[in-house]
Amino acid sequence: MKILMGIPVSGGVALAQFFIYTEDIPLDIPRFRIQEETVQAEWSRFCSAVETARVELEDARNDSLKENREILDAHLLMLEDPVFHKQVRSRLETELLNIECVVSDVSREITQKLITSPVEYFRERAVDIADVARRILHILLSLKKASLADLAEDVVVIARDILPSDMLAMNKERVKGIALDAGSKTSHTAILAKAFGIPAVMGLSRVTREALNRQKAEKAGENSELVFVNGETGEVVFDLNEKIAIYKTFVRNFRNYRQTMELMANLPAETLDGCRITLNANIEIPYEAEQALSYGAEGIGLYRSEFLFLTSGQPAEEEAQFSAYCTVINAMKGKPVTIRTVDIGGDKIFPNMGGAVEKNPLLGARAIRFSLAFPEIFKTQLRAILRAGVFGDVRIMFPMVSCAVELERALSFLEEAKHQCRKKGHPFAENIPVGCMIEIPAAAEIADILAEKAAFFSIGTNDLIQYSLAVDRNNELVNYLAQPFHPGVLRFIKKTIDAAHCAGIKAAMCGELAGDASATALLLGMGLDEFSMTASSIPRIKKIIRTVSMKDCRILAERVRQCKSAQEVKNVLEEHKA
Ligand code: PEP
Ligand code: MG
Repeated sequence: MKILMGIPVSGGVALAQFFIYTEDIPLDIPRFRIQEETVQAEWSRFCSAVETARVELEDARNDSLKENREILDAHLLMLEDPVFHKQVRSRLETELLNIECVVSDVSREITQKLITSPVEYFRERAVDIADVARRILHILLSLKKASLADLAEDVVVIARDILPSDMLAMNKERVKGIALDAGSKTSHTAILAKAFGIPAVMGLSRVTREALNRQKAEKAGENSELVFVNGETGEVVFDLNEKIAIYKTFVRNFRNYRQTMELMANLPAETLDGCRITLNANIEIPYEAEQALSYGAEGIGLYRSEFLFLTSGQPAEEEAQFSAYCTVINAMKGKPVTIRTVDIGGDKIFPNMGGAVEKNPLLGARAIRFSLAFPEIFKTQLRAILRAGVFGDVRIMFPMVSCAVELERALSFLEEAKHQCRKKGHPFAENIPVGCMIEIPAAAEIADILAEKAAFFSIGTNDLIQYSLAVDRNNELVNYLAQPFHPGVLRFIKKTIDAAHCAGIKAAMCGELAGDASATALLLGMGLDEFSMTASSIPRIKKIIRTVSMKDCRILAERVRQCKSAQEVKNVLEEHKA
């Protein structure tokens, strides 16, 4: 067997023949010199191709769902981009090459520059630019646009990347899974895979090469082999051979498991001795709210609002934010929605966000520090949340608070935002609860002080681990040190929960640890009130909660408290499970 690991971006599993899609850009672009007097004619061909592309995109936009429309709008903007037009015109005049060749060269140069950028936002925009350029080239070359629309059999699509327009045109009935070399959780292709409910793994680097090699090795006329895609874990498996039966059973069992888990959605998260626990979902994009409900989420414990900024590449307007928040609130039908103010900075940056280039962005102007440094952006977001708060049970949460002064300053901006709403005559939620994330070790240490001003805590273990163990969460080299069960991390968690309870407020957790089944009993025993996680993990965690007693969990937590290392904690947890 050959196993490749990538980023799981869309849940579910698939087993089907693979289909290699290699239509990123037309390969044989004619290249020839033109006379100076032909420049104008070539330019006119370009303008008319752009016009045809615009009509195509507008037609597609009118037939599309809302989230697809946003992508097509971005393509429409790129199509008309004056910088792109200026570069094409000047290259045409100076190099005197046919227009197809000029468009291909200019777009390739722009995309190559973007694709090597360390900033994820730029890398993702490269895909959109390639998509728009390819559309223009197909029109110029009078080619039928390559698409995944004509698939006649069930397949797992393997490609270097799939352009968003091909995702939209694709025969969704036939595509059972997707495995890509490129892509990330926030790429448009990933967003669409999730929206279509297709299991997908991205960022695999060499899946196309692997599939091409295997295809070459196959005898002519033979069907392509089956490949397994696990959108839950990021696994893509080739060369299944004698294990095929096992994988077929796995896929069947997974479907049954999904059905059982769906039944679980309607049962309460209650321990054997009657303690009721709240299980919430983490979301990044508004349309995930409905999915969260289907997994049994009792609310949204973390809405990572920065994705609104990251997909558009700029601070979202008040109305756009208001509308996105209302979409989530309406979808949740009165259940609580905790909107975290933007956690921009660190690895989540967009162009022109202001400020100097930082040497250590993870220790820099991130999260609440960014918001406090840009009060207009901050107050715009707060107004949008306050106004949306009228339509449901909305809470605000500030990320990466390190001291009481930061929390006080953030709260005073909230008062200013309320004042602005009042002045403009906008109805808003006057008494919105405001919580504080605990994800910096010093914040855990002063949780008792922060609790005087916060309506609740939410422990962000992803950052709490990163900052307490000095382990960059994005660096694979030191990943092995990121130990959630390190006694130091567990002490910070316990201290936060106890401080919350002393002050009569709730302690939630929204970091990955909340969805880690091996930690559930321990966290219950430590007194955690609310767990918030990727929606698909909710049924699994609920199943555990329903099979343990709080009494046993407390005994377990006490045993763990005495452990001297992460390994010792893991051993105790394993023993408890057995
Ligand atoms: C965390 O740090 O645990 C958290 C939930 O926030 P994020 O992962 O968005 O930084
Ligand atoms: Mg965090």
